[in-house]
Amino acid sequence: MRKLELHWQILIGMLLGVVFGFVMTQVDWGKGFVADWIQPVGTIFVRLLKLIAIPLIIASLVKGISDLKDISKFRNIGLRTIMIYIVTTVVAITIGLVLVNIMKPGDGISEETITKLTETYATDAGVTSKLEEASRQKSSGPLQFLVDMVPENALAAMSNNKLMLQVIFFTIFLGISMLLIGEKRAKPLKDFFDALNDVVLKMVDLIMLTAPYAVFALLASVVVSSSDPDLLLALLKYTGVVVAGLFIMIVFYATVVSSFTKKNPFWFLKEISPAQLLAFSTSSSAATLPVTMERVEEHIGVDKEVSSFVLPVGATINMDGTSLYQGVAAVFISQALGFDLSFGDQLTIVLTALLASIGSAAVPGAGMVMLVIVLESIGFPADKLAIGLALIFAVDRPLDMCRTVVNVTGDATVSMVVAKSVGKLGEPDIKEWDDHLEEVI
Ligand code: ASP
Repeated sequence: MRKLELHWQILIGMLLGVVFGFVMTQVDWGKGFVADWIQPVGTIFVRLLKLIAIPLIIASLVKGISDLKDISKFRNIGLRTIMIYIVTTVVAITIGLVLVNIMKPGDGISEETITKLTETYATDAGVTSKLEEASRQKSSGPLQFLVDMVPENALAAMSNNKLMLQVIFFTIFLGISMLLIGEKRAKPLKDFFDALNDVVLKMVDLIMLTAPYAVFALLASVVVSSSDPDLLLALLKYTGVVVAGLFIMIVFYATVVSSFTKKNPFWFLKEISPAQLLAFSTSSSAATLPVTMERVEEHIGVDKEVSSFVLPVGATINMDGTSLYQGVAAVFISQALGFDLSFGDQLTIVLTALLASIGSAAVPGAGMVMLVIVLESIGFPADKLAIGLALIFAVDRPLDMCRTVVNVTGDATVSMVVAKSVGKLGEPDIKEWDDHLEEVI
């Protein structure tokens, strides 16, 4: 009998997780039970994915660069990638701003709801920790981001997933130097990284075999810890605007894929779907990265020379979903609290949300930290920041799940466009998740 495809298994796992989580909210001991016995399964899965992210980036980027033969090609790929990332992010923020200005979700929020949300969340540890984190990030100079990209200790960089850009910097440096010493002398190192790359991709396969169970655990945990349904309902219009914007982004990517690469957009979405489902379940583009790389290379046919650079860089700096959300959230909060925004303020939002999405970490909830910086850039009163965040906190997790899907899809789209533009979009070379499994077990 043919086995159900993995993305269907994952989807079923997710649905069952939601149902199970909901049932657990109905019994007294449910929340504790999920936290003690179910959530750890999801946490282990996310850890496993993060565990292999750094080895995968290093191995595949070294392989990608050393296959290039000519460094000027790399410059070409690099410049195109950054430019396209900026364009897609600006498109995302613009879509968000247009929608929020037309729909005005903040105008209909009653004083009563604002008071209730403020009372529930303004002093919540989740909100205050985001404000603290934002003030820490803000106190740096304009070129700090360049300084932050250069590690002073390669091994220290590799030991921290938050330092992904430092690892990318080191690996590019290593790869280019390997090209410069010539093919013959670099061969042992190249062979080592080639083999490491294959092994790590196999590790992705093995981890993915457990994905249906892990997403069950992840979603059950999200459901039991979600907010009061009344509060969620009060924010329905705001949520609707963000989700509509994110949906338009997916349509935008599909259009870009079909017009620039001439591939069927539905095929693209189907092939990338396991990564999207994981992005949704984990709310982290960094944790999803290994799967995004696997899908884009093996199932879509983007050459490693392109994907090994475009995807890890994208996971860290390209967050279209996050920037769209930041635009909508900033205007929504201003509308709800009666803070008038001029056209100039809205342009400032475009610029700061662009920078903020580059600066946001690829982990759950990071977008909300940078939202504080967006709000401050338009002169939002500092004493009302906590109230502002409190307004949107209740729905942040579900929106985070949705915007992470867009972040990951955006990276995959750009990798296809860049690959096509440099003649590196080939045919898929599909390997199954469970290849050779029976021979060794
Ligand atoms: N969770 C998002 C990501 O990892 C970032 C954010 O919007 O909070 O892509």
